[in-house]
Amino acid sequence: MANVTIDIDLPEGVTFTSYQRVGEAHGFEVDWAWPQRCCCQRCKHEGTARWEQTGKARVLRDLDVWGQPSFWSYPAAFQRCERCHHRQDLIPPFKRKDASYTYRFEEHVVRLMIGSTEEEVARRLGISAETVARIVKQQLSGAKVVDPQRVITDIGMDEISLKKRHKLYVTIMTDLTRPGQAEVLVVAPGRDEAAATQCLERLTPEQRAGVKSYRVDMGAAYTSACAKLLPQAAGVIDRFHVAQLVNDAIDGERKKNHAGVQGEAEPCPAEGISLADVVVSPQPRRPDGEGPCQVGSTVPADTATAAIA
Ligand SMILES: [Zn+2]
Repeated sequence: MANVTIDIDLPEGVTFTSYQRVGEAHGFEVDWAWPQRCCCQRCKHEGTARWEQTGKARVLRDLDVWGQPSFWSYPAAFQRCERCHHRQDLIPPFKRKDASYTYRFEEHVVRLMIGSTEEEVARRLGISAETVARIVKQQLSGAKVVDPQRVITDIGMDEISLKKRHKLYVTIMTDLTRPGQAEVLVVAPGRDEAAATQCLERLTPEQRAGVKSYRVDMGAAYTSACAKLLPQAAGVIDRFHVAQLVNDAIDGERKKNHAGVQGEAEPCPAEGISLADVVVSPQPRRPDGEGPCQVGSTVPADTATAAIA
């Protein structure tokens, strides 16, 4: 048996308590500080939480590790309201109710949708196109709050569309300040100037004044909103900006590796772009230059040791 150490970024307050390799996937048991007080969803009574474990485990999809899916597990638990006896499940801070994936997996899905169809993203992640569509809609409905203290110098704005039976257009604003760590800031309905304005207005005036450049989709009507609301920023009009390039580079590598399996791939708008133009480290580094980081992750790293038989 050989031991391999991998660095995994984790949301704040979350720890790994064990690791298990499961075939072509990775399983991590996660833990966090369970809430000590609980407010009843039904009668609003607030009291000391008394969590009871059911003996079952809940399993969530998280970001890929080394190009293979990873899953988090934690004990299923619930508590009963001492006043009305309503049963309430334990919901971890890193996922939404009833979702079988983490918040950051949702963001990863939305980013992958830039320049891709639902089917392509679904195929790449091994999930259904319906799940991809559901995740985009969930990201759209949740009013995400951008930390007003966050320093943002570069943003990207893209349209994505759900075509399969939905005909839904969505604008996503991405923080491109840290190369290789693009992060979705806001997801808004529509693909017009109003949608771009809605995204930009989630930033404070100070944050908007701190933006130095914006990269927008050439075909979309985002430029005038950016010109109006980002007084210090210059526009970089390139149809294939950073998030897109990263996706293409990953796809390119996969196509090279699995040339025989990709027969049904649909032509994508990035065709003709040479990978030689794209600088993507095979082992992306964290911003502090220490250690490899996981594609699509954002928060400081913890370390897990993987025992590979
Ligand atoms: Zn109650």
